[in-house]
Amino acid sequence: MKTPRIVSEFRAGLGQGELLIQNCNSCGKPNMWPRYACPHCQSDDLGWAKSSGKGTLHSFCVLRQGAPEGFDGDLPYAIGVVKLDEGVQLLARLEASAPDDWSAYSCDDRVEFVAPGAAEAQRRPCAIFRRAAD
Ligand SMILES: [Zn+2]
Repeated sequence: MKTPRIVSEFRAGLGQGELLIQNCNSCGKPNMWPRYACPHCQSDDLGWAKSSGKGTLHSFCVLRQGAPEGFDGDLPYAIGVVKLDEGVQLLARLEASAPDDWSAYSCDDRVEFVAPGAAEAQRRPCAIFRRAAD
């Protein structure tokens, strides 16, 4: 399947170990999820900026069964809403804190981006986060 243009740079960034946020070149505000026009000023002059990769875990859940079609092979896995320090949020995978175990996570934990590796970014192009050391 051809990668839609609007997410191709985000996915390329993941493959290079970077978490990119769409950024408006007109008003300077970040956007997440990527759009064709800035939701703040309507400009279509949009670029990408590297995120600090630091954020707060707003919410999460662990899937052990009943995954959507095409995701059965990933079970178990955890997804969460991460609010980045840049002020935008995204849906991301959470790295297990022990094999198949996410019990160390709590809402409002500080989390940090983990580079998925080029092969994993190609297979499943989504950001991965883990609990931050601090
Ligand atoms: Zn703007």
